[in-house]
Amino acid sequence: MSLRLKADLLVVGAGPAGIAAVCEFVQAGRSVIWVDQGLRAGGQIWRAQVAAPWRQRLEQALASPLLQFLPGHAVIGVEACSAQEQRLRLSSLQDPLAPGKVVTAAQLLLALGARERFLPLPGWTLPGVHGAGGLQALIKSGWPIGGQRVVLAGSGPLLLAAADTARAAGAQLLQIIEQAPRSALLGFGLRLGSQHWRQTASLAWRLRGTPYKTGCWVSQALGERKLEAVQISNGQSSWTLDCEALCLGFGLLPNTELAALLGCEIVDGAIQVDASQQSSRPGVYAAGECTGVGGVDKAVLEGQQAARQMLGQGGRSNTRALSLARQHARLLAQQFALRPELFKLAEARTLICRCEDVSLGELKPFANWRSAKLQTRCGMGACQGRVCGPIAQDVLGWPAQAGERGMRLPLQPTSIASLLGEDQN
Ligand SMILES: Cc1cc2nc3c(=O)[nH]c(=O)nc-3n(C[C@H](O)[C@H](O)[C@H](O)COP(=O)(O)OP(=O)(O)OC[C@H]3O[C@@H](n4cnc5c(N)ncnc54)[C@H](O)[C@@H]3O)c2cc1C
Repeated sequence: MSLRLKADLLVVGAGPAGIAAVCEFVQAGRSVIWVDQGLRAGGQIWRAQVAAPWRQRLEQALASPLLQFLPGHAVIGVEACSAQEQRLRLSSLQDPLAPGKVVTAAQLLLALGARERFLPLPGWTLPGVHGAGGLQALIKSGWPIGGQRVVLAGSGPLLLAAADTARAAGAQLLQIIEQAPRSALLGFGLRLGSQHWRQTASLAWRLRGTPYKTGCWVSQALGERKLEAVQISNGQSSWTLDCEALCLGFGLLPNTELAALLGCEIVDGAIQVDASQQSSRPGVYAAGECTGVGGVDKAVLEGQQAARQMLGQGGRSNTRALSLARQHARLLAQQFALRPELFKLAEARTLICRCEDVSLGELKPFANWRSAKLQTRCGMGACQGRVCGPIAQDVLGWPAQAGERGMRLPLQPTSIASLLGEDQN
């Protein structure tokens, strides 16, 4: 018996954008299949607890017979994508040997979110060096950071959010090192909308005892077997600071691999959508961080907007709020643009592909991602190029992996069983 599930609508991603859309679909009486690789709905920001205004609507949707929620499932491939039908292949992350599931619907919403952006510097693979989001996730799952001396470096508000999480868990915050110049920070503060201003001000108040340096960056992580100190630079001089943990945050990158596999247009690293959130493929819509990083408000509003269009309800939902949220996204990108020095920190022996241990020096002789991949295994490990692909683009100037339309099944490492069409149970 094959496990083929069918519904009116298919949603991939159970973060704020996916939640907002699914609630609209169920309320409108339409059948929905909803897939997320996480074990519950919430996405990156609401992983621990869905925000109060959405909790009850989400519970109602989850209890509805119209909704088939498939948590713990990753979309690994595309079986069909046409104006009439979208068919995706899933793999169970909890039971990897289970036969694959195939889900079908007339319309598809991609609410794929974003992931951390990494930039390599000498020593970035030492134990004790973390990504900002990774550090937050570790702390939330009980990692004992209490008493550790932590330096946070990189750019943007995510760095402050990570600092606040570490502070609340009892870490000793030595410094927050922001690469953007002071003038950019002032420009950001002056142009912030009232709601974002309140959020930023309350974060800044909680972090008031922590030194905040602008126009500086960490140029090296130092230590033999684990992190012992960092070297900080302002372009003219450099100095070291002893610490036990370094948290690096260079912003987020939209998740576009599934969209690329579907043949959607990817522009500037994000899924291109029109005013109704429709992608360049008929029947395929996208919402949230995967259409451009802009935060939770943008994600929710775009999720609602996409749902209304997919339901044929026409019109635009909350146009003013959506345009303010997009304005905030543009402001973030402008004021926290990364300085060119950050792309030149890696040395020849610095690892670029952490899964397969491939250094910058080994990659330099190649002209593009494909030839490097074939000859060095760069990007062929567990992350399938999600980390080193964008790094190669930033540091070596290679074209984007997803943009090359080189994506193919499976999008993530998977078992042979999940690639087989029929469920034998
Ligand atoms: C590491 C990290 C840390 C962050 N920290 C903060 C913070 O501290 N404060 C803050 O305000 N904002 C933070 N953000 C931003 C915030 O998470 C987003 O603004 C918000 O979650 C966007 O919602 P979304 O629905 O677009 O995406 P997400 O919430 O990211 O949801 C996307 C969902 O899609 C699923 N998915 C993706 N691809 C697949 C696939 N192939 N198969 C199955 N499921 C898939 C993912 O599992 C995920 O649950 C952070 C983001 C990241 C990436």
